[in-house]
Amino acid sequence: MIYPIVKYGQKVLEDGTELIKEFNADLEKLVADMFETMYAANGVGLAAPQIGLAKRLCVIDITSGQDPNAKLVLANPEIIAMEGKQTEEEGCLSLPEFRAKTPRPLRATIRAQGLKGEEITLTGEGLLARAFCHETDHLNGKLFIHHLTRLKRESIKRKVRKMTKAGEW
Ligand SMILES: [Zn+2]
Repeated sequence: MIYPIVKYGQKVLEDGTELIKEFNADLEKLVADMFETMYAANGVGLAAPQIGLAKRLCVIDITSGQDPNAKLVLANPEIIAMEGKQTEEEGCLSLPEFRAKTPRPLRATIRAQGLKGEEITLTGEGLLARAFCHETDHLNGKLFIHHLTRLKRESIKRKVRKMTKAGEW
């Protein structure tokens, strides 16, 4: 099932999330739906708040479905180490059409639980590090615009307000 994606301005994107405690068939179904929703939107990551659920859960596939081994399910993720710097264009399915150079660590290590509750620790570099940080941010109520200068962030917010007024958001 493909969920509608929640856009910036909705409260659920900026509230916190609740820990995943049950690793069962319902979670498997939700994760399958999240992958389906992410691929349909041509995204490389999707966090539960983006489909309106305040749960500490995200999915990532930086190969956009090309490599089945690249599919990552991260429940209750935390970034536990960061190293270096990168500043690349970043976007978000909840802020369609907006992209901006966003500072991130070059490498990031994430600790999370997998679909069965097993503990996972992964270190990503480049795009994967960016995805780890971007999706974990979502689960903490943050979006990539929080990492931009105030000027850039306000400019995007202003455009969103305009579009919202015009019924285009
Ligand atoms: Zn996002």
